[in-house]
Amino acid sequence: MSASQRSLRNPFAGLPLVRFGEQREQFDPSGFGGELRILNALPDGRIQTQSESPQLAWADPSEAADRVLLGHYQGILYAVQWRQPQPQGPLPPAQPPYPDLRMHAQLLDDFEAGLAAYARAMVIWHQRHRHCGLCGASTTSEAHGHRRRCSNADCATEHFPRVDPAIIVAVSCGERLLLARQASWPERRYSVLAGFVEPGESLEDCVVREVFEESGVVVRECDYHSSQPWPFPSGLMLGFTAQTDREDLTLDDELEHALWLDPEELVAAIAAGRLRPPSGFSISRRLVEDWYLERRGQSLSAAVAASRAAEPD
Ligand SMILES: [Zn+2]
Repeated sequence: MSASQRSLRNPFAGLPLVRFGEQREQFDPSGFGGELRILNALPDGRIQTQSESPQLAWADPSEAADRVLLGHYQGILYAVQWRQPQPQGPLPPAQPPYPDLRMHAQLLDDFEAGLAAYARAMVIWHQRHRHCGLCGASTTSEAHGHRRRCSNADCATEHFPRVDPAIIVAVSCGERLLLARQASWPERRYSVLAGFVEPGESLEDCVVREVFEESGVVVRECDYHSSQPWPFPSGLMLGFTAQTDREDLTLDDELEHALWLDPEELVAAIAAGRLRPPSGFSISRRLVEDWYLERRGQSLSAAVAASRAAEPD
């Protein structure tokens, strides 16, 4: 399987939207000819859903709102709009129908999850770039929300949506996989290691540094696996697999616990409820599942189910 095929299986990835690219400057939505569907968002990037179902809600156009045109698909044009908070106004609703996408994504189909992730990232970028980073003047939205420009004529710097790359890596030593947890995570939840790419390093440099800093493990080789948009708030997760020769662990303050598990130990730990694998809509779950599949030729969830069925009551 190629990296492009692996990435397509990651939630939020593979959104089949036609983005406007070079046409953004001249594009006239009124001449599109198809249906316009607009998402309502809060300034913090939460997207409105329907009150009677988990699906995304479609709003009427609001003249007073900021808006980004996202793209079109099958004759439908998609956009997201949001209003600036009023200093004296009522607080925005904190409860559904504006759920946290991190919790809600698993209830959406692939298209709506990808669309909500894209919309969320754009709203958050706009809200965090309302002033120029060079001169401090206000910025204004251009190109249907895909660029901001400094309003100071002497500066006029253009600002583009940013993405923050982070690596996430399944480290193995022979037949054993390294899993770790942070104290702030839900009880018994374990995942593979991850961290932000720093200026001046390649992705592979970052894998080696992050794994060593967090666990003391020296990575010998690493390979790219797949990627996943991660709009919390502006991440791009870059998945890797890596190998090491030594299992010695020296944990930093970020990690509460780490351990090495072979495929059978992993299945037994999950089946017995001693270990909760990463969330089902994360690339970390995919890395763990692919690690198991590669070694045992069957899916991790099937192995866990078989293990539970074989347990005497
Ligand atoms: Zn400026």
